[in-house]
Amino acid sequence: MKVDIITIFPRMVEAGLAEGVVGRARTGGLIDIVVHNLRDFTTDKHHVVDDVPFGGGPGMVMKPEPFFAALAAISERRGTPDAVVMLTPAGVPFTQAGARRLVGLGHLVLLCGRYEGIDERVREALATEELSIGDYVLSGGEIPALAVVDAVARLVPGVVGDEQSVDADSFTRGLLDYPHYTRPAEFAGRPVPGVLVSGHHGEIRRWRRNAALERTAERRPDLLADAALDADEHEWLSKRSKS
Ligand code: SAM
Repeated sequence: MKVDIITIFPRMVEAGLAEGVVGRARTGGLIDIVVHNLRDFTTDKHHVVDDVPFGGGPGMVMKPEPFFAALAAISERRGTPDAVVMLTPAGVPFTQAGARRLVGLGHLVLLCGRYEGIDERVREALATEELSIGDYVLSGGEIPALAVVDAVARLVPGVVGDEQSVDADSFTRGLLDYPHYTRPAEFAGRPVPGVLVSGHHGEIRRWRRNAALERTAERRPDLLADAALDADEHEWLSKRSKS
């Protein structure tokens, strides 16, 4: 899969892409990410990317021309993208289902805003979608872009070593993840649940499923509407909600 990220802080984005799962996926050729400096697509001597807002008011607005030039160059060098994603607090909330949808596309371009945001004509003419990573305002789109790339990259086949670990992640089956434990079996007076050291795989699977259900019902009951539950689990839930 190909990803192009347009930003005025390419070093910040490169630093975030260099480590861990995404860093290994890049060096292993599983994901092809190019970070572009928006200032390289300006035509003036000072590489200006922002200007005052029409109508007045505080802050600066990112100019449209460098984004149009960057998109044209990317399309020419790397092919027409399948999606051009503008990161904005006004976007559709980014979710695990959204990450699964994006990984199905071959080529993404991510546009990182700064200041008061990007000139509206970029949204109208270039963006195919807008994503928000949460109901808070960050000072730029670089951290949101890194969040989107990380969530998408770990779904690319082969990127996460043990495919099962992606399968069991929170949200993947409509439930939060179950609690995890490692050695030692007892720490600070807290033993690991006995079933996990029993060696009984069927019991362990059941315990984990129940723990995931319990945790989801307690913390994110909204997720249960879309979770794939069997008849026993539906019954357990309805008893739980009545008690
Ligand atoms: N004036 C904008 C507003 O109130 O919606 C906020 C602009 S913010 C200071 C600058 C840039 O950060 C945005 O253009 C966007 O790219 C990025 N950004 C900030 N918070 C974000 C979020 N929750 N999700 C996605 N992008 C965000």
